[in-house]
Amino acid sequence: MGIAPAFSYDYYESGKIYFEKGSYYKAYRCFKYVLEKDPQNINYRYYYAQSLLKRSAFEDAQSEFEKIIEIAPYSDEALLSSQAISDIQTFLSQKKAYRNKNLEEFKQSSSYLGFSSNNYIDNALNQAGKIVRWNTGSMPLKLYFYPPSGASGYRESYKSQFLAALDDWSSVLKGDVSYNIVNSAKEADISVIFTPQIADFSSNGGKTGFIAGLATPFIEKNLLKGAQIKLSTMKPNNTSFSDNEMYNVAIHELGHCLGIWGHSSETEDVMSSVSHSHHDMQKQSLTERDKNTIKILYKLTPDISNTTIVEDGNFDNSKILGSSQDRMNRKLNEAKDYVKKVPYSYLSWKQLGDAYFNLKNYNEAITNYKKAVELDETQLDSRAALGIAYIQSENYVNAISEFKYLAEKVPSNIAYSYNLALLYHRKNQNYMAEVTLKKLIKNNPDAGSNDKVQNLLKNL
Ligand SMILES: [Zn+2]
Repeated sequence: MGIAPAFSYDYYESGKIYFEKGSYYKAYRCFKYVLEKDPQNINYRYYYAQSLLKRSAFEDAQSEFEKIIEIAPYSDEALLSSQAISDIQTFLSQKKAYRNKNLEEFKQSSSYLGFSSNNYIDNALNQAGKIVRWNTGSMPLKLYFYPPSGASGYRESYKSQFLAALDDWSSVLKGDVSYNIVNSAKEADISVIFTPQIADFSSNGGKTGFIAGLATPFIEKNLLKGAQIKLSTMKPNNTSFSDNEMYNVAIHELGHCLGIWGHSSETEDVMSSVSHSHHDMQKQSLTERDKNTIKILYKLTPDISNTTIVEDGNFDNSKILGSSQDRMNRKLNEAKDYVKKVPYSYLSWKQLGDAYFNLKNYNEAITNYKKAVELDETQLDSRAALGIAYIQSENYVNAISEFKYLAEKVPSNIAYSYNLALLYHRKNQNYMAEVTLKKLIKNNPDAGSNDKVQNLLKNL
């Protein structure tokens, strides 16, 4: 009970503000917090239940509403709660009916079992064989465009090409995925950056490492915190992309961003692994295989999503995707295939390294991460992955040298310096660990309040 009422009250007020703004996860956290401090408060509990409802946690919400009726049966909140319970039940029964109908239609229209040739759901998973997609209960997705200032070659029409591509994907999902455009990167689920050049394609003799688009998910503790799409405005020959070309790149990167993290092996599909390099003038369109794949994806239960409370998909994941070991082995084969098709991109080798890493084959992971680093020194992700693979194979000397390089390159990055300090600590070089962390805090004051950093400092 070590908390002043005013303090709880602030959380309660903040929760209500978040709730009104539609930031239901933040609202949920606030209400959960104040409710823990004061479980008898029916206002707290009512808002908590509402925030669960907004996050599609229908059963949890219902049980909170039931508790309100139990605690204060004659209150207005109890009356509202009983109405809410009956709404939930009506909604759930309608939903169930809709799903069953949907599933039947789907079974008839597509032979989704047995990996027939009309989808590539197998390849859609991320490198670890996981389903990473947005929760349909948390729509609309918030989309943010960084101002394209300084992006030479940028055309005003690129934005509408991008949105046309997104509309094409979302129309396939019939309302399961929707979006709106927001004004800050902070509140965005997906942020879009137009940039003259994503990777340094001059570094390999000019003909090699060109990347037209790049989609990156941000995953923290099994939560999909957001995603970023980078789109090149200039081609290696220094001309800008045509509208059709921009559409083609955007629809491919959006496919990744919506959860198709791998590639199709059929060249006509927009998610084909070679579409990175072939951007002809002709506008591409979603094939039946692309459409089937995304439809199946949004019917499988995600392993990682943007909320912890996720609606169950109505397809049986293991029946469609096989065991997790099977999935990882298939991802390895896909990555090997991709390296053959796109050998000049560091991303191919990084991906192959990741596939080996996930299978705990650290020696092969190291070999491939090294190739990625060689191809493009500016991509620090590959080097960080290499450092982690060295740690896994207990090669601490090499791990230290990688993280030393990274910490020097980006002195404000918490993960780089923290890993370096941890490695020093493991080698009983506590003095070096301390120096590393202090330098980090000097360069990035936020690091001082990081739990991991604080803990390590205490133990030195
Ligand atoms: Zn791709």
